[in-house]
Amino acid sequence: MSWIKSQSLSKIGGIVHGFSNKKFNGSVSDIARYFGLSNIATINQTHSSDVFVINDGFKDMSKEKGDAIITGLRGIGIGVFTADCVPILFAEKTGLLVAVVHAGWRGTLSQVPIATLTEMKKRFGIEPSGVSCVVGPSIGGCCYEVGEDVASQFIDKFDNWKDFLFRKSNLKYILDLKGANRINLFKEGVKDIEVMNICTKCNSDFHSYRRDGENVGKQLSFIGLV
Ligand SMILES: [Zn+2]
Repeated sequence: MSWIKSQSLSKIGGIVHGFSNKKFNGSVSDIARYFGLSNIATINQTHSSDVFVINDGFKDMSKEKGDAIITGLRGIGIGVFTADCVPILFAEKTGLLVAVVHAGWRGTLSQVPIATLTEMKKRFGIEPSGVSCVVGPSIGGCCYEVGEDVASQFIDKFDNWKDFLFRKSNLKYILDLKGANRINLFKEGVKDIEVMNICTKCNSDFHSYRRDGENVGKQLSFIGLV
């Protein structure tokens, strides 16, 4: 299968990464081997802001709850599964540390990308200015309508909500999840942010929860140091 690549991450030595479309066949370990990784760790995503750090080798982490993974270990990939939610890859610009984040509306609201930056700084001394981020294929502002219940939580939490939340009618809003994460990462000090202009609902090459419903498949987004 072909992988969607980031221009900025492709320039950093010692990193492999990719965003799948719906051709991803589910065999994570085959993909890991293909990219020279021993395996790709994934966790039990719960729409939280919990960050998981891998610092002692690969083990099965699929039961661990969380929505972000960080590692500085070579040979271990880290990945998230999404179908409309926003996958975000992080890399320290000289290739020392990588992270992966799953941010749907709940994770965007609870700022799981910022929690990831905080851990990168606290545990590894990496400043946000030293990090490149890539916001991967996910539902676009073109398609992501939310109700008052969701919108009001963003209005309460963010002073800058008008930059990514747009009133459509009295009770309906358009939420630009990619934009919200880009703006909030930038505010936190990440200057190098690439946003992939692919809407998973508009583009039928991708799985979309909003378009296909409950039993939809998932895309894999991964990154690793080799
Ligand atoms: Zn769309």
